[in-house]
Amino acid sequence: MRCMISSCYQQLLIFGMVLAAGGILSCSAPEETTPEPPIAIAIHGGAGTMRRESMTAEQEEAYRSKLTEALTLGYEILKNGGGSLDAVEQVIILLEDSPLFNAGRGAVFTNAGTVELDASIMDGKTLQAGAAAAVKHVKNPISLARLVMEKSPHVMLAGEGAEAFAREQGMEPVPNEYFHTDRRREELQRQQSREQERQKSSQFPTLQSGSEGNNSRQYGTVGVAALDRSGNLAAGTSTGGRTNKRWGRVGDSPIIGAGTYADNRTCAVSATGHGEYFMRLVVAHRISALMAYRNLSVNEAAEQAIRELGELGGDGGVIAVDQNGNIAMPFNTAGMYRGYVDSDGELWVGIFRE
Ligand code: ASP
Repeated sequence: MRCMISSCYQQLLIFGMVLAAGGILSCSAPEETTPEPPIAIAIHGGAGTMRRESMTAEQEEAYRSKLTEALTLGYEILKNGGGSLDAVEQVIILLEDSPLFNAGRGAVFTNAGTVELDASIMDGKTLQAGAAAAVKHVKNPISLARLVMEKSPHVMLAGEGAEAFAREQGMEPVPNEYFHTDRRREELQRQQSREQERQKSSQFPTLQSGSEGNNSRQYGTVGVAALDRSGNLAAGTSTGGRTNKRWGRVGDSPIIGAGTYADNRTCAVSATGHGEYFMRLVVAHRISALMAYRNLSVNEAAEQAIRELGELGGDGGVIAVDQNGNIAMPFNTAGMYRGYVDSDGELWVGIFRE
């Protein structure tokens, strides 16, 4: 889906006005305008084994329209002079509140039948960062991550301590059931039956007991990378992790450098995929480091990091935006919910490998 953010109707109207103005002003000299600094935003809604043939037209439309809504919101914030951190937080809140994604309401279940959420955010200007891990009662974990960054001397708070801090900051706790959906509960049941079958048919225990191994069909983590008019980059990521993960497990999403990274000198990155591999390769920071120390473009750096992830046996993808508004979105899975509005204002949304 490719279109300019302004509608065709508006374009016709503007075209008409330009013609009219051209008639009136044809004798006056053209005015010199300094180009505005670029703004750009990229988002993902998780990478995984989604295939066109296993998705109904309605499901596809639901994802495309939510991604479009999220991009439009983020782009409007940036276009009106808002900061990249605000764009990242507001877009992620929108996606956390949507049951379509594995973040906030609609997140996946742990092996204990609970939902435990991870999120992080990073400011590319100051290298300040905040994260919340394994929280069960925070409606919007991305906002808690931002509060950790701005209102505490720490970078990450986890579990009960994070919940207590959230309450102190005025965040109203929600019951864990708020996050539960039938769809994710069915996924948990299917995953647990598969695990039991695997264990029965093998004399060896699975490599990662309490996790779903590497053949997961789950996806839906959300992430945003943005560049604002002041040249500031920011990135954020929010997730419920992996279906049937062992309770207490924390993935890459709240780990600065693994799932999220932003540095004005290089790029802003949010990752999605099998977190254990992203942590081992510190993928988000790796992309920034490849740009800083090897002089790679954002696209080359992101491609290389995903290639190395695959060589290690990991699957997933990243979105990355550099300080000039260039965007990279490589992944090594069948699909990744993703989209961007680039520095020309062009909006694009995709799901499958195109
Ligand atoms: N990276 C997330 C995790 O491992 C999951 C995902 O992105 O799908 O927790």
